[in-house]
Amino acid sequence: MDAFEYTPNTGRVVFGSGTLQKLPEEIARLGVTAPLVLSTPQQVEQAERVKSVLGGKVAGIFSEATMHTPTHVTDKALAFATAHNADAVVSIGGGSTIGLGKAISVRTGLPHVCIPTTYAGSEMTPILGETAEGVKKTRSDPAILPGTVIYDVDLTMTLPPAMSATSGVNAIAHAVEALYARNTNPIINLMAVEGTRALAASLPEIVVDSSSQSARSNALYGAWLCGTCLGSVGMSLHHKLCHTLGGSFNLPHAETHTAVLPHAIAYNAPYIPETLQKLAAVLPGSEGDAITGLNVLLDKLQVQRGLKAFGMKEEDIDRAADIAVSNPYWNPRPIERAPVRELIRRIWAGEPAR
Ligand code: NAD
Repeated sequence: MDAFEYTPNTGRVVFGSGTLQKLPEEIARLGVTAPLVLSTPQQVEQAERVKSVLGGKVAGIFSEATMHTPTHVTDKALAFATAHNADAVVSIGGGSTIGLGKAISVRTGLPHVCIPTTYAGSEMTPILGETAEGVKKTRSDPAILPGTVIYDVDLTMTLPPAMSATSGVNAIAHAVEALYARNTNPIINLMAVEGTRALAASLPEIVVDSSSQSARSNALYGAWLCGTCLGSVGMSLHHKLCHTLGGSFNLPHAETHTAVLPHAIAYNAPYIPETLQKLAAVLPGSEGDAITGLNVLLDKLQVQRGLKAFGMKEEDIDRAADIAVSNPYWNPRPIERAPVRELIRRIWAGEPAR
């Protein structure tokens, strides 16, 4: 066994079906009495359920969470929290709502209870991306990590199949990059492989039957493990590329991750033989080849593969390549402009990875 260092993140996790009912216990455990409930406008109904489970004992509901955590929305939510004497935040939703919960919690020190309803994994990370004046900046701080996470599979049943598919591949991407991270370790490897196995098996089932409780439960379990990977070790080409493409060309988060993943792995392939072997073992239909396995998975999920479908223009490819190579970072294979440009071109066109 090689030497390694590992600092586990220490949040509390409650997992299962019907676990939303445990929220009053978790709130009491924190010694708070007036949480502010956060959601997007699309999930007000679920925020109302949170309020009802707490017997109406909330500071209020703030339902204006939005993509990329703009600071003007955070400021509005903070003013609302202060006006209503909130002593905690409860975020129910995907990465956008959890981002708002983190932004409030890190500014105020209020405890943060997360109830994730997608597979993006933000709840397990000490990372926060915020947008001010059109620029998204990401930072990491242990104080950002939510203290309590309640995974209730019942709340994920309404996530539409297409969104479930891309959100699940977003989660797999965290695991893949964790496998070859420079600071990876054997525990994170176990979680990455198990998380990928659970998602690769369950996502195609969800696309066929989104009401399958067992598939939903497996996917949420996989998402938890993959989110832990994201929060524990460094990410490289895949995540940097998604950040660049998403931020610069206003592309949708999970869909971008889905289109990029097989190509990012193909770019790194000659440098990551062990990762490829581990992935191939848990991707059905891989026939021993991880990239084939991912292509098979994406075919089964019937997802959009080309970023041109999301509004990225052919003339954006060069600018994307320039941005992608402008900030150096560690990656198993050196980042070189010509092959990175070709990689982005293939992603833009939706050509299969090879
Ligand atoms: P999202 O939170 O933007 O949600 C997308 C839409 O789906 C929203 O309208 C939401 O209300 C709706 N939705 C969510 N769950 C639903 C459900 N169960 N049923 C019906 N509708 C539902 O999407 P996301 O992919 O979870 O998050 C993306 C954002 O999170 C991005 O801004 C990304 O940068 C951020 N993110 C951050 C981290 C981190 O560690 N900081 C990790 C992953 C993602």
